[in-house]
Order: sequence, then structure tokens, then C-alpha cells
Amino acid sequence: MKHKELLVGTALGILGFLVTLRVNVWPVLVLCGLGYLLYTSGGQIRGIGKSKVGTVIAYTSTVRFEDIGGQDVAKRELIEALEFLRDYERASALGIRPLKGVLLSGPPGTGKTLLAKAAASYTDSVVISASGSEFIEVYAGLGAQRIRELFSGARKLAREYKKQGAVIFIDEIEVLAGKRGAQVGHLEYDQTLNQLLVEMDGLRFDSDVRILVIAATNRPDLLDPAIMRPGRFDRTVTVGLPDRKGRLEILKIHLRNKPVADEVDLEDLSRETFGLSGAHLESLCNEAAISTLRRGGVTISSQDLAEALNKVILGEKLERRPSDGEMQRVCAHEAGHAIVAETIRPGSVAHITVSPRGNALGFVRHSPAEDRYLCPREVLEEEIQILLAGAAAEQLMFGSKSTGAANDFRRALDLAKRIVLYGMSPLGVVDKETVSPDLLARVTNDIIQNAERNAMRILNMHRAVLERLFHELFEKETVSSAEFRHYLHVPGKVSWRWRKPPARKSRIRRRI
Ligand code: ATP
Repeated sequence: MKHKELLVGTALGILGFLVTLRVNVWPVLVLCGLGYLLYTSGGQIRGIGKSKVGTVIAYTSTVRFEDIGGQDVAKRELIEALEFLRDYERASALGIRPLKGVLLSGPPGTGKTLLAKAAASYTDSVVISASGSEFIEVYAGLGAQRIRELFSGARKLAREYKKQGAVIFIDEIEVLAGKRGAQVGHLEYDQTLNQLLVEMDGLRFDSDVRILVIAATNRPDLLDPAIMRPGRFDRTVTVGLPDRKGRLEILKIHLRNKPVADEVDLEDLSRETFGLSGAHLESLCNEAAISTLRRGGVTISSQDLAEALNKVILGEKLERRPSDGEMQRVCAHEAGHAIVAETIRPGSVAHITVSPRGNALGFVRHSPAEDRYLCPREVLEEEIQILLAGAAAEQLMFGSKSTGAANDFRRALDLAKRIVLYGMSPLGVVDKETVSPDLLARVTNDIIQNAERNAMRILNMHRAVLERLFHELFEKETVSSAEFRHYLHVPGKVSWRWRKPPARKSRIRRRI
């Protein structure tokens, strides 16, 4: 910094002197400008002086652990590792060897990068963030050189910002730290990984800049065991999909700067968003605000949030509308799914729609009463019944099924196979490798037929509701959970009727 200022001062002094001598300084100024442009375009790094580490980004972070919803265990583990960095004297008095690396492992969008940024601000360190793929080059040796520059750049940057710590965040670490010898052109990969190991081994905590390496991966199984050994990445912290409490916290974080209507129940929304990551929830809040803006609203309503949730799960609404005949089938299909789901799991249907979105012509959004991580046989069987209910409703109302149920069948068959292969069928525990395909097919078919019969029985029991829901969906395209539950308890009369096609049997007889 000081050198730069000195240089600029001297250059300005010389220029001023030349101007007083009436020398034309313009060509010199233009040349200096061009030179500066060339110099700054050499690397895309911000703040690491001249070292070129690809698209490495360096910054000081303002993200705090309070800005991260859920992930309590991950936060606790990470904070513990960071305490050693913050209070080195106390740790060394107890003879603790500070941690050199923490590996964050989990699905995309769960907040791994956020955790690394929060770690940097917690320890008042600079962050240098890079992706594993940026270190892999066709030319042997370049990756290793970049690793060296990454570590020396981190030290330099910390000194520049007068910080005692630097956090090096490497995303997608599996690209650069995959099992050695497993890659095609493995020499370059191995050299890069070896250099990372050397740098990590060389980290010293009594130096003026303490470095903590935080790496993130979605595939911990691909990592070389050498990187995982204690003394390098000492801790592996799992950053999983958020549970219900975590989802609620994340929703609150991303809605705190947005005007939300009083009627919105975030507890309900957190229940309906099972399986979504933090990134999905952030997008949901953003889409809800956009939807409010589009309709000219002032506050985000539950309708905006429901619309945004559909969009995040299935994609944007499509303009194309199927023909009336196809639409009737879709209405029957979705009504079937909804009725069987609500009968088996009361209170679970959140939204029914036949507006085409993404690849779906219609869909039923479920809101599970609780997050589920284990599936007993009964739950799998219930799931199969719900999946098969769409086609069963089509069969009941139109006398035949359609290709619209293909995906449901695939998923139902997959679940039925799981029942057998996880030892939950009458066959008991079976070996996946040795069980005969015929036997597997026979038992899965039994499970499927049983579920189909049950779905049909439930639909026959609620025939009046099926007709009412079918009609309402055809008229309005969307039915809310409250309306649906009202029909279920007060089916009412339907004035409109479809013409039932002749039964399959009689048609065959006629043809004969
Ligand atoms: P990837 O593995 O794809 O790199 P990641 O796990 O690093 O993903 P982030 O980049 O940290 O995910 O998260 C993306 C965005 O999602 C964040 O900027 C934030 O808006 C939101 N987000 C994710 N998890 C959380 C969370 N736990 N709390 C609050 N916001 C979150």
C-alpha cells in the first residue's frame, strides 16, 4: 500500500515538473493509462495484490452466524473450531492443537458458503474464496502453483487489512482433492492435491497470520483419505437440509426486510416446505415479493407465498392449456390423489391445481404433519396408494387410464421394490443380488395391486366428493386446502355431469 502511494506521489511530482518545463505530457499519460489497464486485467482477484489465483475472490465478510437459519449443530461445531483461532493464547495454555481445516459436507444450497463467511467475520479475518475447479489445469504444475499463491495471497491480504487471521474457503473441494490416481491425466491432479497437503501441514499458529481452511463438498465419498486425516481437515461438519425449525428460521431471516401480511402463518409454510434447502427458501421469499409487486400489492400475502412455493417446486406457470378432454382427465387425476391423501393422512393436502407448470399438467402439494426420516412399511404402502390414486380416479370416471400416470407408476414400483429389498415383504430379508427377477416382480405386483384396490375403495367411498372436486378444478383450476376440506365434509350436489364412456367389456363384445 505504502509503495503504491509513494510511486503515485513521485509520478505526479515528475509530471508536474515536466508541465512546468512546458513538455507535452499527454503521450506519457495515455501510455500510463494503457499500462494500468493491462496490469489490472491480468488477474480477477480483488485485494490480493499481484498474485494471480484465477477467479479467487478476497473480501472481509459481514455475514454473521445469526444470519444463518437452522444448522445449529454445524454452527456449534464450527464456532468451537474458530474459538481456537480467536483465543489462541488460551488454547495453547491448555495444550490444544488448533484445528487447521474444517470440511463442510452437504447438499447444494444448504448454507456452506454462508457458514464460511460467518466464520471469517466471527474471527475478524479476511476470506479468500475459490472453487476446486479453478486449480485444475491441463498443464502440470499450474494447479500446485495456484495453491501456493492462494496461501501466500491469504497471508498478504490479512497483513494488508491488518487482521490476524485468514479463512481460505475452497468450494467443490472434491475436484481438487479427489482420490489420487483416480483421475484421467492424474499427474496434475495429484500434484495439486499434494501441494494442498504440504501447505496445510505447514500452517503454524504462532505466526503473525493464522489460517483456517474451510472446504465444502457435496461428495465427501470422492475425497482422498489423506486430506481427511487429523491434522489437516480435523473436523467434518454435516450441513444437511434444514428441519422444520430451521426452515422457519430461514424464512424469518429472508422475510425480515419484506412487508408480510398479518394473515401469513410461517409455521404452516415451514411445514409445507419439507425437503427444500435454504437457497430454495430464499428464492421462495424473493418470488413471493415479486408476485406481490406484479399484482400491485403492498404486503406479501399467503397467496403470494403459495404461488411462489409452486413456482420454486415446479417452475413457472405455462401459457399452454390442454384441450377440454385432457383437462378433464387431469382434474380427475389430481382429485384422486388429493382425496386418497387426505383420507389416509388427514390435514396433509395443502393445495390442488391443474395449471400446467414445468413438466406437470397439474399437481397436489402435500404438507406433512412432521418431517420424516424413516419410512416403515405402512408409510410406504400409503405413499403407493396416493401415487396410484390419480390413475384410479381416471379409471373410475373415464373407464380407462392415460399416460399421465406414467411417472406415478414408476415411483410406486420403485417404492414397492424398496419394501421387498429392505426386507419388509413376506419374503423377509432378501439379497438384492440373488433374488430372482420373477419373484421380485410377483411380490411387487402383489403390493401394487393391493394398493390399487385400496385407492379405488377410498375413491368409491368418496364418489360425491370426487365429482365435486373434479368439477371445481375444471371451473377454477385451483382449489385451496380449506375449500377442499369443506367439500370433503359437505360434498354438496354437482349440476354438471360428464358422459361416462361405455364399459370396456361391452365395447369388446360389440366389436366381436
Ligand atoms: P453449494 O454447495 O451449491 O455451493 P452452499 O451450501 O454453499 O451451496 P450457500 O451458497 O451458502 O449454499 O447458500 C446459497 C443461498 O441460500 C445463500 O446466499 C442464502 O441466501 C440461502 N441460504 C442457504 N442456507 C441458508 C441458511 N441456513 N440460512 C439462511 N439462508 C440460507
